[in-house]
Amino acid sequence: MNSQLPSYLHDEQVGPWAMYLEQIERVRPHLGRLATWIDTLRHPKRCLIVDVPVRMDDGSLRHFEGYRVQHNASRGPGKGGVRYHPQVTLPEVMALAGWMTVKNAAINLPYGGAKGGIRIDPGQLSLAELERLTRRYTSEIGIVIGPDRDIPAPDVNTNEQVMAWMMDTYSINVGATSPGVVTGKPVSMGGSLGRRDATGRGCFIIARCAMEKLGLQMEGARVAIQGFGNVGNAAARIFHAHGAQIVAVQDVAGTLYNPRGIDPVALGEFLATGASLLDYPYAERVANDEFWGLDCDVMLPAALENQITTANAGAIRARLIVEGANGPTTPQAEDILLANGATVLPDVLANAGGVTVSYFEWVQNASSYFWTEQDINERLDRALADAFRGIWQVSVDRKLPLRTAAFVVACSRVLEARALRGVYP
Ligand code: NAD
Repeated sequence: MNSQLPSYLHDEQVGPWAMYLEQIERVRPHLGRLATWIDTLRHPKRCLIVDVPVRMDDGSLRHFEGYRVQHNASRGPGKGGVRYHPQVTLPEVMALAGWMTVKNAAINLPYGGAKGGIRIDPGQLSLAELERLTRRYTSEIGIVIGPDRDIPAPDVNTNEQVMAWMMDTYSINVGATSPGVVTGKPVSMGGSLGRRDATGRGCFIIARCAMEKLGLQMEGARVAIQGFGNVGNAAARIFHAHGAQIVAVQDVAGTLYNPRGIDPVALGEFLATGASLLDYPYAERVANDEFWGLDCDVMLPAALENQITTANAGAIRARLIVEGANGPTTPQAEDILLANGATVLPDVLANAGGVTVSYFEWVQNASSYFWTEQDINERLDRALADAFRGIWQVSVDRKLPLRTAAFVVACSRVLEARALRGVYP
């Protein structure tokens, strides 16, 4: 146990909000005159808890709890995904919203930070129930969202269809079609080309930038991925297409390992039939906790927060950790990884590809003029590589871990705006 940690972190079962606060504390000494404003980042601007009653297919009525947190709006409207998960809590959504504030500022997008969620296991609902849930939730949070107020997007267990229902519900309630109220929509109704793979592509772009600095080869690099959903699946395909080898994949069903490589396209097609990861015939099943100690060069957690802890950080052999998920590494586990010589590419940079293309989608919606996929991918590449360069430089100049450097860059931007706007009244 690290005696310098605040009391709320003495237990490793820390909640994400405590983790976020600890990360903010770590940046405080590096903010100069702006440090006087830092408490603004410890207080979400607005937290809305909503009751979501849903008429089930059998005629019964069930109530679910939903949230929308707008953490900060100093630099622009709120922006962040919506998560459907049985363990979603308000403090978790607060943390995810806080990380969105930092992420958007790290990439210099003109947004604040927000996040939403419903405590629900969507796998237990029929499609019709899921639609009614989504529409009622959208209606309830309709008082705080909007294209110039707060723009939701997909996150864990939500997808393009959920965004389509949200856009439709909001549009009906305001009496005008409003494509810019959500991003991650289907392309046929104003979504952006390139959005589906954008978060995984961003993981690849940031990893490639870091590998160039560290002298690691992409060709033949062995990559282990936790989570094979929107982020993990796309990242796996793009790493694979650039010569890396996907040696391990873990999802909610279990863990697969093949030191000669797993074809992510074939695995994706296999899972799309509804089969379990564990039944994939071209890899060996291993125990879930063996995943962390597998021999690999790059480890890409792309599932949930709190996955790399003091319990497994010491076993990790990868030189590079690419945080596809939000908050997958506890602060104490990160200390262990860094002490062992690993480089951690923090979530606020590594998984920012999704919100960057969401920003492109929002800009395209505002101008009703759509770009080509090549244009979008080139702009994404430029935006992320620029952000990486700036953050890497701060890390080198000030001898800071990349996460702290990213927070220095991002928090300085947010707090500069905060200081200039001042406090009302
Ligand atoms: P998803 O629902 O599409 O996929 C989640 C994956 O994680 C699934 O493969 C699931 O089986 C796996 N998983 C769930 N619980 C697990 C567990 N306990 N152990 C191992 N695997 C588990 O979600 P997603 O959109 O890919 O999001 C994954 C992470 O990336 C989340 O932290 C999310 O906040 C973050 N993220 C997503 C986006 C985006 O654009 N979707 C953008 C930035 C960050």
